[in-house]
Amino acid sequence: MTRLNGQRMDANVVVLGTDNVGKSALIVRFLTRRFIGEYGDIESLYTHNVVVDGREQALNIWDAPYSQDLSSESLMYEKRVQWADGFVLVYSICDRASFNAVSRLIQIIKTNKDILGFEKMPIVIVGNKRDLHHHRTVLSEEGRLLALSADCQFYEVSAAENYHSVLMVFHGLVDRIRESRVSVKKLAGIKGIVKSMSAVFTRRRTDSL
Ligand code: GDP
Ligand code: MG
Repeated sequence: MTRLNGQRMDANVVVLGTDNVGKSALIVRFLTRRFIGEYGDIESLYTHNVVVDGREQALNIWDAPYSQDLSSESLMYEKRVQWADGFVLVYSICDRASFNAVSRLIQIIKTNKDILGFEKMPIVIVGNKRDLHHHRTVLSEEGRLLALSADCQFYEVSAAENYHSVLMVFHGLVDRIRESRVSVKKLAGIKGIVKSMSAVFTRRRTDSL
């Protein structure tokens, strides 16, 4: 891996969603441009190089298994949130239960994020299997509305039929991760200024006593 200006901005992405929604298909499509049809269900961690702002960056993608028992798995989710710089939450437009699960996952991520004190977690919601529109049970508008209410990005894609839309998902997330890092840095800068100003004021107050 090349280092440009000595700076590396690696990003960790966790892909979550119920079984059979096409998480592995999306990841494999992104990494190889191919749709191979069957993927098994082995938990995997991939590393892929992308170029962001002229800098090469490693994107680590975790193809995570879905846990039915969300409540008793809080430690597992806490670890995922701790590791992640961003999430891809996948549902199938033909599977209402998978869409409902995305709402629950957002709640879990936000709860853990608050516990761990993160400023903002970039999340992309993906409605997959768009090619199966004749079996659609979740409207595009529902996905868009959920994304809007949770401040996430939203895409409808077909891992089976379209590489470009899958590419947009991961590029969109990488952009958001980069933006969130910039704003965290800015915030840290502002906090620093506030700290030093309040230090000056405290000193003045004690001086005048
Ligand atoms: P995962 O359990 O979420 O990882 O789902 P998989 O990636 O293993 O995909 C589950 C099944 O859905 C497989 O049979 C895939 O071939 C199929 N699949 C995945 N994406 C699409 C898609 O965009 N369109 C269609 N028609 N089938 C898909
Ligand atoms: Mg899978």
